[in-house]
Amino acid sequence: MPKVYLDSVSTTPVNPEILKTYEKLSADHYYNSDSLYDDGVTVYRLQEKARENIAELLKVKKDDLIFTSGASEANSLAIKGLALANPDRRHIISSIYEHSSVYNALEQLRRTAGYEITYLYPNAKGVIDPDKVKEALRDDTLLVSIMHVNNEIGSVNDIDTIKKVVKANSRAYFHTDTTQSLGKIAIDLKEVDLASFSAHKIHGLKGSGLLYKRQHIKIEPLISGGQQEYGLRGGTSNAPANIVLAKTIRLALAAQKSNYEHIGKLYDHCLSKLNDLTGITINSPAAGIKTIINFSTSIPSEVLLNALNLKGIMISSRSTCGSRINEPSRVLTSMGIADDRAVRISFDGDNRLEEIDYFIDALKEILQKYGRN
Ligand code: PMP
Repeated sequence: MPKVYLDSVSTTPVNPEILKTYEKLSADHYYNSDSLYDDGVTVYRLQEKARENIAELLKVKKDDLIFTSGASEANSLAIKGLALANPDRRHIISSIYEHSSVYNALEQLRRTAGYEITYLYPNAKGVIDPDKVKEALRDDTLLVSIMHVNNEIGSVNDIDTIKKVVKANSRAYFHTDTTQSLGKIAIDLKEVDLASFSAHKIHGLKGSGLLYKRQHIKIEPLISGGQQEYGLRGGTSNAPANIVLAKTIRLALAAQKSNYEHIGKLYDHCLSKLNDLTGITINSPAAGIKTIINFSTSIPSEVLLNALNLKGIMISSRSTCGSRINEPSRVLTSMGIADDRAVRISFDGDNRLEEIDYFIDALKEILQKYGRN
């Protein structure tokens, strides 16, 4: 039975070349990057060179980059770190369909410290309207945090307009979660104050990521410790992972155009096949990212997921980070979509057209067996 992986939004396989480099770095350069003997200094230099290379790739300054364990940590550090450093401004604007690492950080501030959070809802096209951001801004707004690409339905927010609206109408900082856009579509960090990145969505290591934070912006660390990461994230640096992140981002950006073209073909092919089937509703917006198709069928998502799993096909019914929590999807509910019949498939440069055909044939068979039509 073939294995067909259509869940790259959840994670991606590590590129063997990246894994090999990581293994070699871990073996040869295991020294603490803060040690003062030569071998420690070499690790420090390699790590700082990687930071510099990443800065060049993202067109930002080297000292604006903080290595983290992934996007969840970067989101927490951006939001809670900023709140801890600016206790006098207690209003934050975000969207209702952020990843749980943003939403739950905001809810924690609301529950434990009385912050007022304005959650904006997506419009009919699945995006956050910049005018609604403008209307919600106040004198005491500390932060606006709006994700670039939504991980459940694939809407692409116009962060270029939103950041301009924030800058022109307030003194609030602008943060964006770019986990699902890095290596897929262009990200312009100009005028963005903070942004979160993850390595494992672009064939890098799990437990590796970045917070971009313009250097002058004050935040407090969440992990207290030593001098690592400008004193903003304590703990011995995971130098091999940090060093190899430069290669991960370089490879992802170098292949971005050709990969996304290929993904576009998979998306068009899959969408037209899905539209040929009866009883399918496409939930993803037409102008969404081409890596994600969210759709509903006539059978419960759990039944469909299990039946596809028996055929070796791996897809999700919602954000993987919430897959074991028995609560409705905030994302789908916010768009008025019943989440008990919705599933998400996602594509990557590695997927092939034949895999889409295999998936569609399996879907047809399952719908015939279990569906109402
Ligand atoms: N934000 C978004 C939009 C995501 O899709 C994910 C991964 N599910 C995260 C944040 C969390 O990333 P990480 O696994 O690196 O913590």
